[in-house]
Amino acid sequence: MPYRYDTHVHTSPVSRCARASVRETVEFYKSKGFEGIFITNHFLDGNINIGRDEPYEKKIGFYFSDYEQAVKIGEEVGLRIFLGVELSYKGTDFLIYGLDKDWYLAHPEIMDMDKTSELRFMMEQGALVIQAHPFREAHYIDHIRLYPHCVHGIETINAERTDQCNDLGNYFADSYGFHKTAGSDNHVAEAAKRLAGMISAEPIKDEADFIRHVLADDMELFLENNDAE
Ligand SMILES: [Zn+2]
Ligand SMILES: [Zn+2]
Repeated sequence: MPYRYDTHVHTSPVSRCARASVRETVEFYKSKGFEGIFITNHFLDGNINIGRDEPYEKKIGFYFSDYEQAVKIGEEVGLRIFLGVELSYKGTDFLIYGLDKDWYLAHPEIMDMDKTSELRFMMEQGALVIQAHPFREAHYIDHIRLYPHCVHGIETINAERTDQCNDLGNYFADSYGFHKTAGSDNHVAEAAKRLAGMISAEPIKDEADFIRHVLADDMELFLENNDAE
């Protein structure tokens, strides 16, 4: 039996742009037969719902509150919840897997690093670094930025993006030999038009196990319409 995972999911209130609560999100993915999801809310450098001037520790506490709530609801309904983080730099986004709350609490200096240094440091610390939807275009993005020397992989399928954006990402990934991921970038739970994710032949145990599977390129990527059932 294949196990389906969404690697890119936002929840409200932590992501300011999300429209679905943690409970709506967890229950939705359970109803769609997913085995698990990665909660990847916008980090302190992105569209987070807490003031920039709050102390770092308080912001980290808020950041992890949706994830922690998702873990509890996931245990209740039977959906595995994993942690990811979405970093932002002027509309260029990165998905980080494999670092936990204690790690972020211990490393406030990441907020003072330029993105290249920050990504390299996280990679040294054992994180999997994926550039999300690298060819996204939007009114708030001045230009497309690529970071081919400080990522492990590319999100080549993002359910919120156009085929052109995803196809260019796929070409970029093939050209550099990058690992590939797929995710929904879901901000609205059941209101999402399409869903994307990754299928594993065996259940994913934890974030480290997910990283091993991504680096082994042994998961299948999928994209599908979110049809009402
Ligand atoms: Zn968002
Ligand atoms: Zn996102």
